[in-house]
Amino acid sequence: MRTLVRNGTIVSDGRSFRGDILVEGGTIAAVGEGIAAPADVDRVIDAAGREVFPGAVDPHVHFELETANGASSDDFASGTRAALAGGTTTIIDFVTPQRNGSLLAALAARKEAARKSLCDFGLHMSVTAWSDRTLPELEACCRREGIGSVKTYLAYKETIGLEDREFLAVLDAARKLKFLTLVHAEAGDMVAYLQKTLLAAGKTSVAHHALARPPEVEGDAVRRSLLLARLAGVPLYIVHVSTRQGIEAVAAARQAGQAAIAETCPQYLVLDESLYAAEGDAAAAAVMSPPLRGQEHREALWQAMATGWVQTIGSDHCPFHLADKRRHAADDFTKVPGGAGGIEYRLPLLHTFGVRTGRISLERFVDLVATRPAKLFGLYPRKGTIRPGSDADLVVWDRDRKWTVAAARQWQRCDHTIYEGLELVGAPAWVFSRGEAVFAGGRVEAEAGRGAWLGNNRGSDGA
Ligand SMILES: [Zn+2]
Repeated sequence: MRTLVRNGTIVSDGRSFRGDILVEGGTIAAVGEGIAAPADVDRVIDAAGREVFPGAVDPHVHFELETANGASSDDFASGTRAALAGGTTTIIDFVTPQRNGSLLAALAARKEAARKSLCDFGLHMSVTAWSDRTLPELEACCRREGIGSVKTYLAYKETIGLEDREFLAVLDAARKLKFLTLVHAEAGDMVAYLQKTLLAAGKTSVAHHALARPPEVEGDAVRRSLLLARLAGVPLYIVHVSTRQGIEAVAAARQAGQAAIAETCPQYLVLDESLYAAEGDAAAAAVMSPPLRGQEHREALWQAMATGWVQTIGSDHCPFHLADKRRHAADDFTKVPGGAGGIEYRLPLLHTFGVRTGRISLERFVDLVATRPAKLFGLYPRKGTIRPGSDADLVVWDRDRKWTVAAARQWQRCDHTIYEGLELVGAPAWVFSRGEAVFAGGRVEAEAGRGAWLGNNRGSDGA
């Protein structure tokens, strides 16, 4: 199968240029100006007036995540279908072993669940406790099983969160095994104390969710986790930074030469904490950790994206149906499953509120959603770039397309969306995954199970 995408504005690796892309089979064969269509070309796409950028990489999603109060509503098939419709051709989900459960057994089960994916996928391992078995298992994950990154939680200490000594043990292992450590940076003891205090005072509804997680809870945990990473001498990737305090801690570390990497998510750039005061479904739907914030924090995050202190945008896609969100919305906000869906809106949201407002350039947009995550997680240059030899994962972008978000029309499987009614500009016209036109004419054409496992083996090559 040969496809020629011609006359587009190619945006890749920090630059934009008019050009053509020849795709042969699953890979990019040539990139340049005036590439003649081969005699046996199967398909020619006219991309005049459109941008063409590498298929996006979402480094942070949670499909079929079990919680005590319901499972996230997208599985690997429905979630990756939504990913493709939104211009994302690679996702990285998580393995979350039971505390003191086997990492390798949990990885095998998660890989099996992920086999129905429509797009290519990787997994971050999580360490949810530290025992004598953890290091040998981590070593096997990194050297044999294609794991290159490990998630840790400083919140949720009653279930999967780590104490400092355990977190330091993971950082120490990161130095030996060369994996990248991810951290959910919220100070768990502070959150637990504030939740308990609020509930005891009868403040049980979802309106109080954010009060248990004030900005200092994140600022303190980001500072502290970066201090511990500096002691251990390893890079640290902080997921879903949501506050001015958090990003200032990252900026200070980066300015001091530390390898501090910050991710944020569209919801923290676009939505406001006032949603919680409204109570009801809108508030329950917006329960996530960290919570939505106020204007001051959004401004700090937007500025940090322009300066490079924020390196990636993940969706933290984790939707739950309203029945699960509502169950404890009045009587105990700590039991409302945390998370919201956004995998198919990540690019349009960032395009609408970032690129079109002039806050970030188109080149920076592509770096945040595709190139940088591919580089950080060992997938570059197979993913995240348009160059000969790379996988032919391409988005042909219609920058003028105006549309309105509606749960009734979304691909992701959930009975609502936190972005309902938002007017967006920009959407994929075509999406290619390894040379196949998986999204075109508003339809996803891809079979469940076509997605490939992307082990990155950072540990084995020490890269
Ligand atoms: Zn998450």
